[in-house]
Amino acid sequence: MKGLALRVAHLFPKLMNIYGDRGNILCLQRRCQARGIAFEVDGLELGDPLKAKDYDLVFVGGAQDREQRLVAEDLVKVKAKPLREAVKRNVAVLAVCGGYQLMGRFYRTAEGEELPGSKVLDLHTIHPGAQAQRFIGNIVVEWNGTTVVGFENHGGRTFLGDGIQPLGRVVAGFGNNGEDGGEGAVYRNVFGTYLHGSLLPKNPKFADHVIETALRRRHKDFRLSEIDDAVEDAAHAAAVRQATRRSIIR
Ligand code: GLN
Repeated sequence: MKGLALRVAHLFPKLMNIYGDRGNILCLQRRCQARGIAFEVDGLELGDPLKAKDYDLVFVGGAQDREQRLVAEDLVKVKAKPLREAVKRNVAVLAVCGGYQLMGRFYRTAEGEELPGSKVLDLHTIHPGAQAQRFIGNIVVEWNGTTVVGFENHGGRTFLGDGIQPLGRVVAGFGNNGEDGGEGAVYRNVFGTYLHGSLLPKNPKFADHVIETALRRRHKDFRLSEIDDAVEDAAHAAAVRQATRRSIIR
């Protein structure tokens, strides 16, 4: 579509980028370009202000506690308020693992330190301690009548509040807390998930859902055209096969 652009704020690209989370940005870019949609991305590091009205989508990846501590501080001082404002205005957000945890009320580390979140999502995360099992491995989630597949590696257990839904149901793996079968969270146009991978290249349907959600705020009823996803669909199917095989052994 002529004149159409997806404007993305990539939060903390240097600090919050493990297991190839930046691949999500490259995937968004590629899928937009394939449709003639311009793609603009601003990397916002510690101290950089977030101007909510400048963006259609905010992305944040995962990281370990050390980076999360710095990010939590920045959120409280600089970005949490405009982020909540953006969400109120229906800006889309995709937050992965450590970034997802920091969308909530707080993340309590293995040592019991409480890192404040941006409070975009009504959820909290507790790491039960260094001796507790880490949730590591491939994960398959039932989402919207199809599957989303990825890799998870977290010690934190996330618990959702009442007004918020999980992104999907765990088919294989652990998800939010290894207990209630939920994975990730959805609220307004915010998607939180534990899935690395990178997530979007392996899940083209979910990637397009995120792009459409982001663009529909300014372009009502916008629909993406189909593109050839033969390679992506094959990668998705192979990842699902591998993840479900491993869960049987477990
Ligand atoms: N530090 C968090 C945890 O272990 C997040 C880890 C991650 O982003 N992979 O729960």
